[in-house]
Amino acid sequence: MDEYVVGGKVLHGHDLELVTGYVHVERGMIVEVEERSTVKPEDCRACGVVIPSLINAHTHLGDSIIKDMPFDTLDKLVRPPDSIKHQALGAVSTEALAQAMRRSLTDAASTGTSLLADFREGGIEGINALKTAQNSLKTVRVIILGRPNDARDYIVEDEIDTILDHAQGLGLSGTNDFNSSIISYITKRAQERGKFVAIHAGEKDASDVDSALALDPDYLIHMTHASKHQIESRIPIIVCPRSNLMTGVGSSFRHPPIAQMLESTIVGLGTDNVMLNSLNMFAEMEFVSKAYLRDDRKVLQMATINNAKILQRDHEVGSIEMGKRADLLIIDDRSNNLCGTRNIISSVVRRARPDDIICST
Ligand SMILES: [Zn+2]
Repeated sequence: MDEYVVGGKVLHGHDLELVTGYVHVERGMIVEVEERSTVKPEDCRACGVVIPSLINAHTHLGDSIIKDMPFDTLDKLVRPPDSIKHQALGAVSTEALAQAMRRSLTDAASTGTSLLADFREGGIEGINALKTAQNSLKTVRVIILGRPNDARDYIVEDEIDTILDHAQGLGLSGTNDFNSSIISYITKRAQERGKFVAIHAGEKDASDVDSALALDPDYLIHMTHASKHQIESRIPIIVCPRSNLMTGVGSSFRHPPIAQMLESTIVGLGTDNVMLNSLNMFAEMEFVSKAYLRDDRKVLQMATINNAKILQRDHEVGSIEMGKRADLLIIDDRSNNLCGTRNIISSVVRRARPDDIICST
């Protein structure tokens, strides 16, 4: 359908201002947001609470091959090259990997996500497996951040260039996992080509934060144990609090210091490893609001416009505004779960579930 209208209670613009009215869509783009005091359901393709689709700014889709991990240390679970995760990735066929990632992408779309950024292990083969998984799946788009194989102590020049040819940038495990001259070299190479550089930092402790900041990355993942001074570097941060809880690095709700981060920089949200958490961003938002921030508007902004800004896509997604893509979720505020809501944003963040979605566009 090329032209359609959705309507009801619309969370409009970056500030998620609540307006009653319609969103007019033509060829996949928002062409008008019309305020009306009443909305007729018969005029709409779908009627309910209209919010921007969710963006998941940090995933590891390759982990879709293993689930229900034991409660264990971060290093045993995910640190390259010998963790449970990397052993599983080393043993899986490309076909099985692509199939598992395809199932996860389908799950992300059905739980309200239209765009995600994935740290893709496995060099060019890993990137190609994700492209195979995504092939013809139009409901969710992926920013692929690749990494070279075995770049801890040496690099293969051609491999870096091949990865940068086929991915939107680099997604690196952390500076402690690399020889410092090698990580400097590969990040500089990506930056010279205008590609993303994103790095895990401060997840287990602060020992890799200063070295990550020195690389001047586009954004950092976690910063669970970053100091005030390190946060004030103003480099954008993606936090993944459910992951931190699962790996035991964020067992205090002061880590990551999300409120403090928001005073200094842009902070976004991701679900991290599929083997640790589902890709359900509603679950991530509920957890952040109740355990960390207690500010529902800011939490919804983290999962939408903040993530769009960090991923440099805010010109086209992340908020409901004329000229942007019509990446919309229409939520049923008359569902058994949401009926009687007195604060739409709080209900969306703290209790809405994927089964409250009437439709996504
Ligand atoms: Zn991660």
